[in-house]
Amino acid sequence: MVDSPSRITKPSPVSDVHILWITAGLSCDGDSVSVTAAEQPSIEDVLLGAIPGLPRVHLHNPVLAYENGDEFMQFFYDAEKGLLEPFVLVVEGSIPNEKIKKEGYWAAMGTNHDTGQPITTCEWIDRLAPKALAVIGAGTCATYGGIHAMAGNPTGAMGLADYLGWEWRSKAGLPIVNVPGCPVQPDNFMETVLYLLYQVAGLAPMIPLDKQLRPTWLFGKTVHEGCDRGSYYEQGDFATEYGSSKCLVKLGCWGPVVDCNVTKRGWMRGIGGCPNVGGICIGCTMPGFPDKFMPFMDEPPGGMLSAALVGGYGRMIRALRSITNATVNKEPKWRHNRPELTTGYRP
Ligand code: SF4
Ligand code: SF4
Ligand code: SF4
Repeated sequence: MVDSPSRITKPSPVSDVHILWITAGLSCDGDSVSVTAAEQPSIEDVLLGAIPGLPRVHLHNPVLAYENGDEFMQFFYDAEKGLLEPFVLVVEGSIPNEKIKKEGYWAAMGTNHDTGQPITTCEWIDRLAPKALAVIGAGTCATYGGIHAMAGNPTGAMGLADYLGWEWRSKAGLPIVNVPGCPVQPDNFMETVLYLLYQVAGLAPMIPLDKQLRPTWLFGKTVHEGCDRGSYYEQGDFATEYGSSKCLVKLGCWGPVVDCNVTKRGWMRGIGGCPNVGGICIGCTMPGFPDKFMPFMDEPPGGMLSAALVGGYGRMIRALRSITNATVNKEPKWRHNRPELTTGYRP
């Protein structure tokens, strides 16, 4: 039987876990910055040991580290030599195809001390992924290729599973764990890390993932299913300009077909979540992003049909509801101060 975190009484069987985080894919570092806003749990809670049952966690992320230069890189060199065990590898940014370039390199981190040449990001993944307990893709670039993998890109950029293989397993038997989003929703990422740390500590079963390797409890519903504006959609009441509180489908919202929980979870402290606060969903968590959602801000083709169908039904329902609304806005007729009892009471 697996202990629930709330009943944890024994220390983790693994005393320390390192998180080696590479942002040297084709990346804007936006996921590292986003994760600093997490609260469920926060990075600080995980690193300072505030959560019961977890091993001690040491984070090595170039955006958030105190160390820099060779001092920072030493953790990666040590991990490669097997001197930094156990560790979880996080990759942020899409992975370029170094096999297609004519010269130079697309992306790299650190220097090969023997040759004096940069160590490519692909080399780092080749060196570290086989030694990692788990490999996590942070953000849509790392998970599926994202913006850098658009049609016409010269680098052949791709996501982690395209690079390592969709059937790839870590030495602990875990598939790649994808937490997409551009950037990743902060709590989605930290909750996934927390789950994996509990799994490492023997306190959680195998992480449940869908076919796109996303945690099922985070990506099992559509934006539309959690949207504050869903009732406007159902009533066929659509915004035609920004600033409206109505459904945004005619302004280009793809929420009905996009797997993402930010309309339920919010962005920071439960606040935000694109359509909730007036922004159309452009499908940034999806493997087909961005190409299959462009041109942004045009009404999605499927949205035209569904909005037309819902429009007729919705107008009728809205009209009927306004009649009912007027009725229930009036008190029952027996509440009066006349000298008679008209409530229907029978002794
Ligand atoms: Fe930046 Fe978005 Fe790519 Fe993350 S997924 S590295 S936020 S472009
Ligand atoms: Fe659905 Fe988008 Fe309309 Fe929200 S704004 S109800 S997600 S179509
Ligand atoms: Fe991305 Fe759409 Fe989710 Fe916003 S609602 S984070 S655009 S998938």
